[in-house]
Amino acid sequence: MDLRPQWQKNIFLVLAFTLIFSPIPSVPSFAQVKTPDWSYGGAENPTRWGELDNNFALCESGKDQSPINIVDAVQGNPAQIVFNYKPTPLEIVNNGRTVQVNYAPGSSVTINGKQYALLQFHFHTPSEHTIEGNASAMELHLVHRNTAGELSVVGVMMNKGTANPVIDKIWQHIPSTQKTNTVSGQTINAADLLPKSKAYFSYSGSLTTPPCSESVKWNVLTEPITVSSEEIDTFEKLYQVNARPVQPTNDRKIELHGN
Ligand SMILES: [Zn+2]
Repeated sequence: MDLRPQWQKNIFLVLAFTLIFSPIPSVPSFAQVKTPDWSYGGAENPTRWGELDNNFALCESGKDQSPINIVDAVQGNPAQIVFNYKPTPLEIVNNGRTVQVNYAPGSSVTINGKQYALLQFHFHTPSEHTIEGNASAMELHLVHRNTAGELSVVGVMMNKGTANPVIDKIWQHIPSTQKTNTVSGQTINAADLLPKSKAYFSYSGSLTTPPCSESVKWNVLTEPITVSSEEIDTFEKLYQVNARPVQPTNDRKIELHGN
């Protein structure tokens, strides 16, 4: 129901008429409203993200930023992450900055008694986190959110080694930039991308992309999975580098859970 007074409706109609029939192209002025571009190189590289937009300020001023170099971890509680991942219809997005697989509702993790739904997973090269100074060829991020809106990301290091059939299946269906590919008749299970050991490092951090929002719970598995050099090459042909450099730890506590 439209509760606006009649004169407002009339003005709206006049404006709408003007926009639709105006000979002046009005699209560029709308296009400027979109969030600014950011990048991994050039003038919009990670050291500049904080200056690109007010909404990106935390990328520069935040004290709990991610990724970090994982070092000096202290023993945390031994509770492991309970993974409850189910197969999902294969839907792949090439968003211009990474390859992302969207996840249907119904898969989750439980960490410290809190359940978080799996939303999507995506990839970085090289790895964003480093462990005792060592980067991996790639890093998988499984992004989860609970009903309170809190984010929890599980990171899995990907080292060069044996080929990974799940990665092959995804790579075969990567769409062109800014496109989504819903692959009919194919499912995928994120559980098949996890290493045997579920031991993990935890710390409180941020999104590793603008707007670099904080209060993200990070859980980086200690054991890597492997991908072949061909699989790494395929990704690097699309995204040679899509990793934010490590950020200052600022005395944050890093805990190791499990062995
Ligand atoms: Zn990521």
